[in-house]
Amino acid sequence: MKTIATIVGARPQFIKVAPVSKALAATGSVKEVLIHTGQHFDASMSDVFFEELGIAKPDHHLGVNGGGHGAMTGAMLQQLEPVLQQLRPDRVLIYGDTNSTLAGALVASKLHIPVAHVEAGLRSFNRAMPEEINRIVADQLSDILFASTDTAVRNLEKEGFSSDRIFSVGDVMYDAALQFAERAAARRDILDSIGVEPGRYVLATVHRAENTDDPQRLRVIVSNLERVAEDLPVVLPIHPRTAGRLKVEGLAFSRVTTIPPVGYLHMVALESQAAAIATDSGGVQKEAFFYRVPCVTLRDETEWRETVDLGWNRLASPSTGGIAQAVASAIGSRGTEASPYGDGRSAVAIAKIVAEPS
Ligand code: UDP
Repeated sequence: MKTIATIVGARPQFIKVAPVSKALAATGSVKEVLIHTGQHFDASMSDVFFEELGIAKPDHHLGVNGGGHGAMTGAMLQQLEPVLQQLRPDRVLIYGDTNSTLAGALVASKLHIPVAHVEAGLRSFNRAMPEEINRIVADQLSDILFASTDTAVRNLEKEGFSSDRIFSVGDVMYDAALQFAERAAARRDILDSIGVEPGRYVLATVHRAENTDDPQRLRVIVSNLERVAEDLPVVLPIHPRTAGRLKVEGLAFSRVTTIPPVGYLHMVALESQAAAIATDSGGVQKEAFFYRVPCVTLRDETEWRETVDLGWNRLASPSTGGIAQAVASAIGSRGTEASPYGDGRSAVAIAKIVAEPS
């Protein structure tokens, strides 16, 4: 029996871990130990995902959250090291691009524990993003690189990673989308409780530091979403960081309907029925594509190039404005059909590879 230590801490990682944990258990030859760093910790940003998605209770909860990047990552390093030292897993599995990903990669590699990175090779080519730094370091320290897309494979090849470390497995968020589709469809009651109709509202999310921590960009996003809401209801499940920054900047939404962060099933229900989605989230851009809902990405670039190239997503920079016009022109538009995110069996492919005898 192999022991795999999975390190997660933030909302998107709980969603990614759900199909992979299930696939690991199904191999019958892997014991997974789940370590939650605590980066996202409250009921709406963490607990709800474990409950809804049937993820096992974490074996270790490090309770690290808040503070700047240095303090948070430092505390994670300090807390993770003794846990991994004691556990001595055969491999550490990390996901995505958060501080929890970075800390997991650093601690494991210094303890000579092999690391596998799910969602490797993703690049925005913008090193001002903390996520980009985390990805670059995590990829360097991983001996198995699970790439979600052909673009990610090409990025890794261009950076000189040898092809025997790269595994093109597809995207585990697509697995999750398929696995939870039916249960999410049964949660469309959330539209009634918000008071919106299918196909007659725009769903928005904002949480990237480049938008929330830049008062000018935040102001542009608020004014543009307010403009969109003059014509069509806008629903914004608000990330705690964004709520905090709006308060500090003395900004507020009046027409836009803000709601607390929702669980995954409600989020999928809202995404799949929207007329358009405006977001700076990586996962939400992809999910818009999964449900074939036109998307406007509130950023200067995107790692998920395929969604733009296929015509389902367009960039609207909060530096230059134009978001309201981009949303108006996205509504009713359609892109080209393609399946750049695999066949919904990425988690099974990942589990098979990590369960192999080394
Ligand atoms: N999500 C959710 N509830 C919300 C907002 C987002 O369940 O209120 C889900 C969303 O469906 C997607 C994931 O969280 O699966 C995306 O996470 P986030 O936007 O926090 O991070 P990113 O994908 O940008 O790393």
